[in-house]
Amino acid sequence: MFSHQPGHEQTVDTSYDIAVIGAGMVGTSSALWLLRSGHRVALIDRGEPGMGTSFGNAGALATYGNVPINSPSIPRRIPELLFSKDSPLHINWTMVPGMMPWLIRFLRNCTPGRVEYISGALASLMQQAEEGVFPLFKASGADKLIRSMGCLYLYDTEANFAKADGENKLRRDHGVEMEVLTPEEVGQLEPNLAKIYAKGVYFPKAHQYVSPSGVVQTMADHFTANGGTFIKADVSAIGKNTDGSLEIATDGPPISCKQLVLAAGAFTKRLFGGLVEPLPLETERGFHIVFPGHEGALNRPVGWSAGGFYMTPMSHGLRAAGTVDLGGLSSKVRQANIDHITRHARKLLPDLPETPQETWVGHRPTMPDALPVIGRSQRTPEIIFACGHQHIGMTIGGITGKLVAEIVDGTKTSVDLTPFSPGRF
Ligand SMILES: Cc1cc2nc3c(=O)[nH]c(=O)nc-3n(C[C@H](O)[C@H](O)[C@H](O)COP(=O)(O)OP(=O)(O)OC[C@H]3O[C@@H](n4cnc5c(N)ncnc54)[C@H](O)[C@@H]3O)c2cc1C
Repeated sequence: MFSHQPGHEQTVDTSYDIAVIGAGMVGTSSALWLLRSGHRVALIDRGEPGMGTSFGNAGALATYGNVPINSPSIPRRIPELLFSKDSPLHINWTMVPGMMPWLIRFLRNCTPGRVEYISGALASLMQQAEEGVFPLFKASGADKLIRSMGCLYLYDTEANFAKADGENKLRRDHGVEMEVLTPEEVGQLEPNLAKIYAKGVYFPKAHQYVSPSGVVQTMADHFTANGGTFIKADVSAIGKNTDGSLEIATDGPPISCKQLVLAAGAFTKRLFGGLVEPLPLETERGFHIVFPGHEGALNRPVGWSAGGFYMTPMSHGLRAAGTVDLGGLSSKVRQANIDHITRHARKLLPDLPETPQETWVGHRPTMPDALPVIGRSQRTPEIIFACGHQHIGMTIGGITGKLVAEIVDGTKTSVDLTPFSPGRF
């Protein structure tokens, strides 16, 4: 068991008020909020902080992201989404039998009424997203890795923009500030883009991560510098001692704690069973490529609806990230997704080289209703779920952490937690 902060002594103390499993955006934010609340906290990860899905995402702090992936149009678009050669969605058919219960639940959450409800619940988190994360950025110094130039979302045709009417209405209805732009106005914001778009939507209040993993690592360093303990260990099981404390089995010494936060992203699924109820958590794999030296091509994250991905200027190059592969927890990069993103990115920015330098796969943790799970386990109330942040964990990870601390402290939560209850399944 080791402290993360360079130079710290190796510690032998294995008993904490609270342990947080998973040092991604969600777990690190939770650990920091808990520390700020005066608890003795251990943050546990099998790797370095911020190297899971929080590493390779598109880096948009997308406060306009209250539109779930569930959509009333999905049932009729299934054939096109699954069989079109240019679809941003791929499904590994061998996974289908195991995923069937999740897929059925997902489709049940695509009715207009459910989508409206889910969107409202996500908006309640989005509206508190800045309050949840900016204090952590400021205190840790990670604010230097955040840029506030808004985000841009582009549609290839007027018809596709019209099809997005419902989504944009959900944003407007929940107070998201947005401006519909003509091609000329898009060109003024992003002059290097090829003029292959028909419409743009600009979200002026959105922010971006210049280095998503850099932000999480900076926050984790701040955590250890202020008395928190980072433990590099692979958790294999959770048990209960006779005195009521929890026992975390790892590939190193066991760790005991009074309360536990499960924030291992898509891999939280492997910790279900026994002490905690199994929840319908699945993963949508997503991919990225990087073009080093091309970060100057754009001023802000740009989403491309036709390609299902974003391009974001980051500290180490231009990153293009997105698409969905229902392919389980495999860490094998799927070349067809990489090719899809590369092809579309080069259509938008023809000066990009044919071959990107970095390819990556990550695992979005997704519940069938696209709502995260934030709340105490019904089976073991000392265990708190903080998982299922799907496409928006970099945006609502901070507020999730704040809510976790409020749950532990028993204070009134900043957001009504009913929609996020583990008991909803
Ligand atoms: C391509 C792509 C683009 C995205 N773009 C955006 C975006 O622009 N904006 C946005 O808001 N979100 C975006 N997301 C979503 C976002 O990245 C995720 O929602 C978020 O990173 C999830 O954070 P997390 O902390 O729950 O999980 P993770 O970051 O995956 O962290 C979980 C941690 O748990 C650790 N762990 C797992 N199992 C164990 C174990 N048994 N023992 C110990 N440690 C364990 C892992 O090592 C990992 O560090 C994107 C995702 C993808 C894939």
